[in-house]
Amino acid sequence: MFQNRLISALALFPFVCLFARCHRGPYAASNKQYHKQAKQYARELQANPSAQTMATAAPWVGTINFNLRKPNLVVLHHTAQNSCEQTLKTFTLERTQVSAHYVICREGQVHHMLNDYLRAWHGGVGRWGSVSDINSSSIGIEIDNNGSEPFTEPQLGSLMLLLDTLKRKYNIPAANFIGHADIAPTRKSDPSVLFPWKRLSDAGYGLWWSDTAGLQVPPAFNPLDALRIIGYDLRDSSAVFLTFRRKYLGAENRGSLTEPERKVLYSLYRRHL
Ligand SMILES: [Zn+2]
Repeated sequence: MFQNRLISALALFPFVCLFARCHRGPYAASNKQYHKQAKQYARELQANPSAQTMATAAPWVGTINFNLRKPNLVVLHHTAQNSCEQTLKTFTLERTQVSAHYVICREGQVHHMLNDYLRAWHGGVGRWGSVSDINSSSIGIEIDNNGSEPFTEPQLGSLMLLLDTLKRKYNIPAANFIGHADIAPTRKSDPSVLFPWKRLSDAGYGLWWSDTAGLQVPPAFNPLDALRIIGYDLRDSSAVFLTFRRKYLGAENRGSLTEPERKVLYSLYRRHL
């Protein structure tokens, strides 16, 4: 009797499974993997950490005064892809080895793909100031955009709301809202020259230059020192000048700075002091 019931249940299994897959959506498998990996990290956090160090001879004494480390930098990207769906798929395939905490679609929908306290793989090799492991200290936000089109109002609206939440929750300074191109000027140009950085800065995310009319630049002013103080890695100064122009002047040219451009940089540099 029991055997017959078991056979009937097994016969139904493919249909139940098919129904469940439909019901759970196309990311059921990667969602399951996410929770498995998160559980493994939770186990590591709960374990006695002295095994990680040389402090094994002494008895374990756990302090009770702690919390989780917080992100202190926000890095904005454009996806350079043609749809949100394409990006979601990219970030759920193991072979791509890339991810972000958030993806913002053209219609304004926000996908939160990774807990803010965990480390996404969005920065790659890069540097900002003295920080060389950008992924460990940052939140990565990918904006669905192919790199040559304007950003949409719904997605900019959603971005502003998200940035407001992150800034308040983690107490992130205005200067620490930056772009992927800022941390990797030789490799990256995102978000593109069409991204409205001034609008973001006016809302408190990122620093912008002031009116340069009447501004006197001291003769000793050194643009390279200024860019370094702002945060740029100057191993390729030509790439940094290009990144600076794209972001703050909406221009695409390289080469040394003109006098009006020096004024813009001087103004920006003073905001960072
Ligand atoms: Zn990027």
